[in-house]
Amino acid sequence: MKKIASKMTLSTQIFISLIGGMLLGVIFFYFVPSGFIKDDLLVNGAFYLFGTGFIRAMQMLVVPLVFCSLICGTMSIGDTNTLGKVGIKTIGFYLITTAIAISIALSIGELINPGFGLDMESIKMSTATAAQSTSVVDTFLNIVPKNPIGSLAEGNMLQIIFFAILIGIILAKLGDSVRNVANGFNQWNQIMMSMTLMVMKFAPIGVFCLVAKTFSEIGFDGFLPMIKYMLGVLFALAVQCFIVYMIMLKIFAKKSPIKFLKKFFPVMGFAFSTATSNATIPLSIETLSKKMGVSKKISSFTIPLGATINMDGTAIMQGVAVVFAAQAFGIDLSAMDYITVIFTATMASIGTAGVPGVGLITLSMVFASVGLPVEAIGIIMGIDRILDMTRTAVNITGDAVCTIIVAEQNGNLKSDVYNDMTLIDQSAA
Ligand code: ASP
Repeated sequence: MKKIASKMTLSTQIFISLIGGMLLGVIFFYFVPSGFIKDDLLVNGAFYLFGTGFIRAMQMLVVPLVFCSLICGTMSIGDTNTLGKVGIKTIGFYLITTAIAISIALSIGELINPGFGLDMESIKMSTATAAQSTSVVDTFLNIVPKNPIGSLAEGNMLQIIFFAILIGIILAKLGDSVRNVANGFNQWNQIMMSMTLMVMKFAPIGVFCLVAKTFSEIGFDGFLPMIKYMLGVLFALAVQCFIVYMIMLKIFAKKSPIKFLKKFFPVMGFAFSTATSNATIPLSIETLSKKMGVSKKISSFTIPLGATINMDGTAIMQGVAVVFAAQAFGIDLSAMDYITVIFTATMASIGTAGVPGVGLITLSMVFASVGLPVEAIGIIMGIDRILDMTRTAVNITGDAVCTIIVAEQNGNLKSDVYNDMTLIDQSAA
């Protein structure tokens, strides 16, 4: 049994746990009468213990992971000083496209209402308090921490983000004189990434218990919301990729979207199958250069930067997940909460590493910023792999579109190469 499990990838194991947990939960709900074994020993015993244990382990990662990776992400932006105008323009595009992505996701979420019908109120373990209504001025003032150590201890995400960005900018500015501290943060970042992988190894057990507990309390009512959530994310990803990016390409670079899609498709396929933006960097740079005439002077800077800080697809998943969780837990989000989500998810995009599954961890930070309970993450984790693959393809497409726009506007794009469709079959790498 162990041998079979070790041969399966983690995502397959998580997916099987999800299905197994759902089946067991549904059987419990419809066919097993209440009693000591079902209620005390299993549902509120083992399932609660391992489900909550897993969620707590994930919560443990959030603050240190986000803090370190945001500092490292900002440090890499800080380096862009050397590139001046191109750097500022690229970062501007990256931030704007992410904010657009998350807004689309929130709107589509509100349209399809993925969380209605999934009453998770009863399985809530952490305290969920929708952010208290404060004035707009106070909300902005609250971003500045009075005591950053206190913010870290309390897990106040906006304050942590603010402090981390400042540290990142200053580290980049001071350069060599603070190399040890910068290296230290990079190493902490690696430690937290390894710890994330370690915790994720227990995801199959955690997901099984969380899902089994939820479904044994709500029966079939849980299926529709999950399917709606999945379709909502896929739809929002398609809108971002095929409408927003293509309009931007046409307006800001005056380039044919069809030619772009035909030539860039293999890179999207590669990102889809590996679910990691980082691994796609070389292929993306080569494709942009050989098939679309983008100077490597630009792409060798914008593509790795994008793979580190620009995650529009991830932001989309997080937007729909916010609506899903708020509805499932019956929490009303105010207009200010939505603005907070747009801001935090844009920052989360900087803090998300371009490797599989990290978007789910930084999702806890987005949830925490508006007081949503993280239990919902355990439920959507089971169907995340396919969404991770799709959003990674969108993540790197966003980087490529921004790169083409910046290159075109700076005179670093050869239009004859871009328009030459005979290059489409040429291998890029
Ligand atoms: N897999 C994504 C990427 O590499 C990150 C994530 O959303 O988990 O771009």
